[in-house]
Parts: sequence; structure tokens; C-alpha cells
Amino acid sequence: MKLSKRAENIQTSLTRQLFNKAKQYEDVIDLTLGDPDLKPHQEICDAACNAIQEGKTRYSMNAGLFEARRAVAGYYEKVHGVKLNINRDVMLTIGGMGALYLSLAAIVNPGDEVIIIAPYYVNYIQMIQMVGGVEKVVWTTPKNNFIPYPDEIERLITENTIAIMINSPCNPTGKIIPKDILKQIAEIAIKNDLYVISDEVYNSLVYDELECASIADFPEMGERTIVIDSMSKRFSMTGYRAGFAVGPESVISVMTKMQENIASCTPLPSQYAAIEAYTNHLDDHFIRDTFEERRNFMVKRLKEIPLLQCNSPQAAFYLFVDISRLHMTSLEFAAKLLEAQHVAVVPGITYGDQYDDYIRIAFTLKKEKIDEALRRIKVFVESVVEG
Ligand code: PLP
Repeated sequence: MKLSKRAENIQTSLTRQLFNKAKQYEDVIDLTLGDPDLKPHQEICDAACNAIQEGKTRYSMNAGLFEARRAVAGYYEKVHGVKLNINRDVMLTIGGMGALYLSLAAIVNPGDEVIIIAPYYVNYIQMIQMVGGVEKVVWTTPKNNFIPYPDEIERLITENTIAIMINSPCNPTGKIIPKDILKQIAEIAIKNDLYVISDEVYNSLVYDELECASIADFPEMGERTIVIDSMSKRFSMTGYRAGFAVGPESVISVMTKMQENIASCTPLPSQYAAIEAYTNHLDDHFIRDTFEERRNFMVKRLKEIPLLQCNSPQAAFYLFVDISRLHMTSLEFAAKLLEAQHVAVVPGITYGDQYDDYIRIAFTLKKEKIDEALRRIKVFVESVVEG
């Protein structure tokens, strides 16, 4: 039987392929997925469990419970300084991914172009294609510190361009787009009447007391920006599948109608967990502090491995490591490392084919595991050099 044309283009990402392959080794150390090992705060877990016990397990409104939207709006006001109307401006989604997909589905017509910045989160391209859009890629390099040049974004704009997607802090580089660059991107969006989808799911994991601005907060940007945020990374709630979108009423109302047709709503226990999380745990810094400590440890240990190079990420929980001195492709590196040392990492080409000199390593495991993983990576690198 025939499948859709769309189905032909959909592939399992290399991240998932490596993750699946890693499962065959009992002693594997898996540094592939951005899935933190930390448990959410006990009170957040209790809120979800209590909801189940009390039978709060039915459908909610498609945009989410009023209390959940109110809790999210309270958080949004704190971070962005913008008061939301919970009936209009915000909806809960199935993770940040649900929000990303719905926002694209709401604004992209077949053939419309969406500008994305590489290295990019692997799911952007397929999501754009799944809604019939075409991705246009702005490449960044270590020369520009993996920060996009606004004029390169502008150069890609055609009459078919509908949106610019940005991801700050960025997966996989851990870079924060500086405020002056965001301002220039905002000006480009306004001048060309484009939407901006601003993926901010890592905005709580920012280190060294740095700040991460949101493009939505520049004048006139609220009306054209869809902010994507999530409980996954901030509260270590990946499996709860709870996220949200904030944007113009015209877009949020369409996204809400679309959500009715694919998921109905965010699972109720997760919504109760979100209420607890955003109401009482915004000032818990345990998760961020833990990752900052792990980052420092991992960068220090990685610098001890000759031939591998990386900068300390400003945010998120990944190292984007330059393996060019080993003269291997990133896929070769990842496959051989897994086979020889049972350590799983993601090949750089996952994030754009210009990044074959990189691998991504997540520091979402305990320090002892990271320590052991880096010991094994060192042994592997030495074997390649000797080999
Ligand atoms: N955006 C980026 C850049 C991500 O890295 C991820 C997950 O890794 C997501 C969005 C989606 O996260 P979730 O759907 O768990 O909120």
C-alpha cells in the first residue's frame, strides 16, 4: 500500500538512531539525548500523582486548564515583563515540540519558506517539511562564535518567506544570541513582515550569571512572535510532555483548534504538575546549578584530551566538540566510539551537514558517569591516533 509523499521524507534522526543502537550494550554510557537524569521536585511529582488519585484525569479545554494557563502567564510576566491574557495569548501544548509543530502548522502554507539557523535542533527541518514548508538555512561557524549574522538572514528572504526560527539558548552549541543581534533580527522581521518562532526551552539553564533576552520583548515583536517554552528542561519534566506557546491571538487560537484534532490537550496530571512547578518552584536553582557544575567538570576533563576542542557552553546541557584533528567523519567517530568503548554521542551532521567536524555530548548524567565516559573517550581518541 502506498504511503504519503510526506511519509517518504520522514526519517528517524541520527540522535535517535544512536540512542537506539546504544541500548544493545549493557554497560553503555549514553550521552545522546537531552533528557536530564534529575527528578522533578517532589512537590511537582506529588501534584501529578494527586491529580491521578483524585480522578483529575479527564480532558481539559484544548488550551489547558485556566489555572495552568494562569500559572504559566505568571511565570511569563516575571521573565518577559509582559502581562498575558490567559483567554487569548497562551496555550499549553504537548511539550515544546507540540508548540513548535502547531505554530508551524498554523502559519506555513505549502511552499512557504522558514529560515532556520544552523547548527539547528534536528526536528526543525522535518517539522517544517511535515507542514509542507521549505527550510532555508543560515550557517554559523566558530568564526562568528556560532551566532548568526543578521545580514545573512536578510539575504535569504524571498517573497515566499513566512518566518524566522531562532533558538536561544541553542541546542547544540549552548550559545545565547546577544541582545544587539536579536534586535537586528527583530528589525528584519518587522521590515519584511515575518513571523518569528522563538524556541526558548533552555532559557532557565543559563550559566555564569549570564542573561538571555527574548526577541519577543522588543517593541512591536509581541504581535509577530510565537514564544515556545517548556517544562521539560526547566523542571526536568521531559516525560510529562508539557510545554506552552505564547503569541498573537490569531495564531494561538488556530493552534488551539489544531490541538483539538491531534491531542485534545496536555495530559491533565502534567497540567497539575505545571501549576505546582510554575507557582512554587520558579526560584529553585538546583537543576541549573547541577548542570553548571557538570558543565565545568566536563569541559575541564575534555580539555585534558588532546585533539578534541570545545568552548564552554553558556547554557543548555551539551558540548559541541570539534573532532577535526582526528580526520574522521562525525558518524564514523560516533559509530566507532560506541563499538569500541560503549559511549554514545551524536554526530555533528545531525545539526547540519556542515558540522561533520563535530560531535554533541550531553551532560545529562551524573558526574561519575561523565567521568567514566570521558575516560573511555580518551582511550578511544588515543587508539585512533596510534591506530
Ligand atoms: N527545542 C529544542 C531546541 C530542544 O532541544 C528540545 C528538546 O530537546 C525541544 C524544543 C522540545 O522539548 P520538549 O518537547 O520536551 O519540551
